[in-house]
Amino acid sequence: MADPRKNVKRERIQAMFGGRCAYCGSELGERWHIDHVEPVLRQLQYEQGKGFFKTGKLHRPENDREDNLFPACIPCNIDKGTYTLDGWREKLETTCDVLGRTSATYKHGVRFGLISETRKQIVFYFETVMTEVPTTLATVKPPRDLRTRLREDV
Ligand SMILES: [Zn+2]
Repeated sequence: MADPRKNVKRERIQAMFGGRCAYCGSELGERWHIDHVEPVLRQLQYEQGKGFFKTGKLHRPENDREDNLFPACIPCNIDKGTYTLDGWREKLETTCDVLGRTSATYKHGVRFGLISETRKQIVFYFETVMTEVPTTLATVKPPRDLRTRLREDV
């Protein structure tokens, strides 16, 4: 039988940003993930013939706290993986460079004007709706222009 406290916690997290993904802002829908903002880094173990599997243990158990949880759409949560927010932001900002190096189809799309590259600073959805970044996420640095906006709002 499902633990009703788990459902209440899940509903509370889903409502944090109006039912939207904390990162891209898309509507969560029925299937979505709870993301550890500061990653917990699940321990993996290798076994001959089985490959890698999760042990259930965490490298960073101190990050497994309710104030470190954000709602995320499945593509964002999978892409963020074990990145910190700043690390993931940097990875996302190099998307055009990576595609330009690794995908011939992408290069054709750019060359024939089907794809227009937009290089911009990534601002996560939660950074546009939160008036201040919680102290529990002290390692999260909003992009420079958002930091300026936050100061101007004071
Ligand atoms: Zn998302």
